Amino acid sequence: MKVKDKIAIVTGGGGGLGEGIARCLAEEGAHVAVSDYQLDLAEKVAGKVRETGRRAIAIKTDVTSETQVQQMVDTTVKELGGLDIMVCCAGISGFSPAAVPSEDALLIDNIRVEDWDATFAVNVKGVFLCNRAAAPVFRKQNSGRIVNISSVAGRRPSDFLVAYATSKAAVIAFTQSMALLMAPHHVNVNCVCPGIIYTPMWKEGSELLVKVHPALKNSGLGAKEALDMMVQTLIPFKKYQTAEDIGKAVTFLSSSDAEEITGQSLNVCGGMAFN
Ligand code: NAD
Repeated sequence: MKVKDKIAIVTGGGGGLGEGIARCLAEEGAHVAVSDYQLDLAEKVAGKVRETGRRAIAIKTDVTSETQVQQMVDTTVKELGGLDIMVCCAGISGFSPAAVPSEDALLIDNIRVEDWDATFAVNVKGVFLCNRAAAPVFRKQNSGRIVNISSVAGRRPSDFLVAYATSKAAVIAFTQSMALLMAPHHVNVNCVCPGIIYTPMWKEGSELLVKVHPALKNSGLGAKEALDMMVQTLIPFKKYQTAEDIGKAVTFLSSSDAEEITGQSLNVCGGMAFN
């Protein structure tokens, strides 16, 4: 078992990738605090972790709240007995229905400031707050692992996910700086950059995309068909990644196998980062 008896927090743990990460960590021996601002989803995933024989708690946390993030760490240390692994997976696409105009969806003028701010609040400030709250625990014990979930979108341009792509590039940059800050304390800080996984985020995203993207809106394709086409076009392996693929990468970076790896961003994207 790669992370036997380690204690992990997974933010956004009620969602598609968060669930995959929580389950993989548990299968490799970790106890998991499943954190999400949707407590019902977190509770379901915590239940699945318990089925593996590992301990789990569900914590309601909005990662944009400094107070709630601190409570998340304190509760985990108190109820699970410590903290070894912090996985920052909570994120939003920022591609909100209200933000999408009926035409000119690809004009920078039509990116609303409130959507830009909301995207950065969750994807960047949320990651910063969670890393910062875990740091004192990790410094004190002179060990720890942080894995931030970025995206291939943070490595390549996007015409329809501009705020998202920019926020995910920020996660990569933040991870590198955080790795430097934590290196003297023997804490590894890394990123995983997933490709395309069919989670609720992409289900909703593809429905909007097919309505507004100039290359797709008159194509007659349904939302899932359009996303299937993107996968065929953009991903050299020509298939979706899975939550389990991401979970395995996170588990590796959280394990002793990754002892010498820090400040890195691991693409798990079937080669999409090359396109
Ligand atoms: P998802 O929408 O299925 O799950 C996201 C989870 O985060 C949800 O459970 C949601 O409740 C939670 N969340 C949202 N805002 C929150 C907040 N303020 N505080 C706490 N929890 C919050 O999305 P997903 O596809 O599972 O994505 C998870 C992460 O992976 C995100 O950071 C996303 O950017 C990244 N990612 C996803 C893909 C993909 O193809 N699905 C690709 C690359 C990166």
